[in-house]
Amino acid sequence: MKFPNMPYSRPQFEEVNTALYKYLERFKAAATKDECFAVFKEIEEYSEGFNSMFVLSFIRNSLDTTDKFYEGEKDYSDEVQPKLEEVAQELLMAVLESPFRKDMEAAWGTLLFDKAEMELKTFKPEIIPDLQEENRLSTEYDKLVASAQIEFDGKTLTLAQMGPYYENPDREVRKAAMEASANWRMKHIEKWDSLFESLVKTRHTIGEKLGQKNFTQIGYYRMERLGYDRNDVEKFREGVVKYIVPVAKRLKEEQAKRIGVDKLKVYDDPYIFPDGNAMPIGTPEDIFAHGKKMYAELSKETDEFMQFMLDRELFDVLTRPGKSGGGYCHYIPTYKSPFIFANFNGTAGDIDVLTHEAGHAYASYRARNIYPSQLGNYTYEIAEVHSMSMEFLTWPWMRGFFGIQTEKYYYQHLASALTFIPYGVMVDEFQHHIYDNPNMPADERNTLWLKLEAKYRPWLDLSDTPFYEEGRRWQAQAHIYERPFYYIDYCLAQMVALSFWTEAQKDKAAAWQKYDTLVGFAGTKTFVDLVKDAGIPSPFVPENLEIVSDAAVKWLNENSK
Ligand code: ZN
Repeated sequence: MKFPNMPYSRPQFEEVNTALYKYLERFKAAATKDECFAVFKEIEEYSEGFNSMFVLSFIRNSLDTTDKFYEGEKDYSDEVQPKLEEVAQELLMAVLESPFRKDMEAAWGTLLFDKAEMELKTFKPEIIPDLQEENRLSTEYDKLVASAQIEFDGKTLTLAQMGPYYENPDREVRKAAMEASANWRMKHIEKWDSLFESLVKTRHTIGEKLGQKNFTQIGYYRMERLGYDRNDVEKFREGVVKYIVPVAKRLKEEQAKRIGVDKLKVYDDPYIFPDGNAMPIGTPEDIFAHGKKMYAELSKETDEFMQFMLDRELFDVLTRPGKSGGGYCHYIPTYKSPFIFANFNGTAGDIDVLTHEAGHAYASYRARNIYPSQLGNYTYEIAEVHSMSMEFLTWPWMRGFFGIQTEKYYYQHLASALTFIPYGVMVDEFQHHIYDNPNMPADERNTLWLKLEAKYRPWLDLSDTPFYEEGRRWQAQAHIYERPFYYIDYCLAQMVALSFWTEAQKDKAAAWQKYDTLVGFAGTKTFVDLVKDAGIPSPFVPENLEIVSDAAVKWLNENSK
């Protein structure tokens, strides 16, 4: 089924809720192992049906946020999904307490049950109104970002369309572009502040109602962090300060020298080469044609995967007014179809769509027949391992995207992989402080951000652009509003991806095999176990960060101009 033809109909709350309660009764009443397994399967299939509708309304709303119909459907799903949590939790409880639990564990392993136990800790019927409020506030943030219309260069542009100007060789153009976007954000500071204030309060209430002293631990449960906790994450951040920040600082100082500025301002930060960053060549059609060739050559499975995506029209990548910002990959269970959403803007970021987002899509494509589907659902760090490693494992095909600028692309990709990590852990540390101290006044949040900037990105000069100077950069980071504690995942995954890169430098085929094996496990193992079993150095041992970054640093030293 092609994406545009996938039928949508609103999952009516009463109908779905009643059906699920009936399944619950039948599951509890199962007298034999076979009966128990059969009802379990029916529940999975039924849930895939209405969940697919929620995914479809989300995707179609993001494709055109001005479409009233899907706006209404998205609002409806924001409101209904929390209400369905109650029966979902009862189902989880029934599975955990089932007399056939041992049989299910023997068939499917225990991870599914560990995850269920964690999920139970994230919900009580009392928090339904708070969850609805949280959804509503996140959607409001998203809508405000998508509504941006910036007058620049004689045009009216979205935030995504502003992207290429930040990499313009003319410093004045970069500065003006960054200012134009920042000024638009400054126009809405009361809204950014009040939305966040409400989100923090709502989440804190959720934490308290769930018996925690604040939201932080709930953030960990929601992200299904198994096998590590906040102490391990703290150790990782310390490792970053000790081993990655100095390397990133040196790379950024070299960048400043290369582009001929004495201080690296926010509008110089993305600009890596004096003659411009590597930009993809050709039209979006050319990019897709080469992407298809790349996956055809990479492996038989990736070839079939790409054909599947193109045949079913599972890409929407061109930017246009009213389309939501950023990029994502979602999965529509009924059609076993991943869907890739992006905003092409002519920068190297467009190629990420065919490597990073396609890495996500490839993983969900590979997991599409895993049963129970819960085991196909890997956690977020694992998902980012899939995507960020794919970015590196597709290096041999980059010439078809970047032509004579390929060497520049390699350099900027590898260097930004390293310089990204301090930013990523900064976002993570910020959120720990925020949710540990929910009464922090708005201006202190900005002060906190500035302190973290100095700790993690001491090379960056924030002056000249009030939005940054005031410590508001975090307000442009959607995850902080929409997906609390979803960020350390990228940093952990980046370390794993760099390990795959190191391995691919020595033996491409072996690295691909190792990666493909890891992808094949989908969500049947935890992040910690996947990394261990693949023989990749654990990011939770600080010294390993030095080992992993060393190879990248060596390559960068040899290949810098
Ligand atoms: Zn991703």
